[in-house]
Amino acid sequence: MPTKAYAAKDASSPLGPHTIERRAPGAKDVAIQIEFCGVCHSDLHQARNEWHNTTYPCVPGHEIIGRVTKVGASVTRHAEGDRVGVGCLVDSCRACDACKSGMQQFCAKGATFTYNSQEPGGGTTYGGYSQAVVVDEAFVLRIPETLDPAGAAPLLCAGITTYSPLRHWKVAKGQKVGIVGLGGLGHMGLKLAHAMGAEVVLFTTSPKKAADAKRLGASEVVSSKDPDAVAKHKGSFHFILDTVSADHDINPYLSALRQDGTLCLVGAPEKPLAVSSFGVIFGRKSVAGSLIGGLEETQEMLDFCAEHGIVSDIEKIRMNQIDEAYERMLRSDVRYRFVVDMSTL
Ligand code: NAP
Ligand code: ZN
Ligand code: ZN
Repeated sequence: MPTKAYAAKDASSPLGPHTIERRAPGAKDVAIQIEFCGVCHSDLHQARNEWHNTTYPCVPGHEIIGRVTKVGASVTRHAEGDRVGVGCLVDSCRACDACKSGMQQFCAKGATFTYNSQEPGGGTTYGGYSQAVVVDEAFVLRIPETLDPAGAAPLLCAGITTYSPLRHWKVAKGQKVGIVGLGGLGHMGLKLAHAMGAEVVLFTTSPKKAADAKRLGASEVVSSKDPDAVAKHKGSFHFILDTVSADHDINPYLSALRQDGTLCLVGAPEKPLAVSSFGVIFGRKSVAGSLIGGLEETQEMLDFCAEHGIVSDIEKIRMNQIDEAYERMLRSDVRYRFVVDMSTL
């Protein structure tokens, strides 16, 4: 089925209109008319080949919200007319230990990502900057009708990427949690950690975001450019979630952790980050990482957001404003997620 989309044709040209082929829905497939697609910094990294693995043309977008237009004969979980979501994953082997334990993102055979991934049957996957998508029902999420659909789109990546490590490291009331960076991921991390009952401190390079951070749930906002302000928090955090997309020094955050505390990286800068051995051996601290989340956990996060009335703070854009949105994201000028209204494609 020929489908309208918006693609990067190479690493340096602006994105532009493009037509892709979507498969006709098979027995287990769900066909979705896309209403909104969030703009993740990973879209920019991949459109511009910053992770050195992009296949062109590349149609980014893995924060997809839409309505089901058709289901295959053996689909049981979704029905025509349902509001559904698709995140970063569209398939995995379903047989390895990771898949069987609900962590399809770590599939031993390599999960199939929503775009810039190899389809099991050959060909490249294309993401949500498009009119419609066809996905196996096991990788389609239910979107509670109480959530605003545009605001819910970023939950499919920014939401689950911050929810999963907060749950894994058992963030709860009585703990002090740091969030580094107030962009798409950071603002979701802030809302979610606050909703889980933790005391949350934001580290930011943009002091002008302080009032927003307080509104989103931060008890304190610290300028990460001021070493004295960061040093005041030495030895006090149970957990810090670093969402920064660019090269930066993580050692001040190691020093801000308590004994046995964890600094978890979810940001994916192009170059490796330096870790001071003394920064981790004193206090037996950990530097960890986390990748999105599995399907069951993503559904749990969506239901948690519905229960707590949480969606992303968004700025809606037209499809042809995508390059301008990327440039603003690079200037940390996003409040706090761009979402493309796909009716403008
Ligand atoms: P974003 O909206 O652009 O936010 C990134 C934030 O990082 C900025 O708003 C800024 O916050 C801060 N920042 C930017 N440059 C900085 C610098 N040089 N030094 C210190 N702080 C800086 O990006 P996003 O969509 O949240 O994504 C963040 C990163 O996570 C990206 O690398 C993305 O690829 C990655 N990611 C990873 C996963 C995963 O599964 N692990 C999933 C999705 C995305 P302030 O203005 O507050 O300083
Ligand atoms: Zn993403
Ligand atoms: Zn697997």
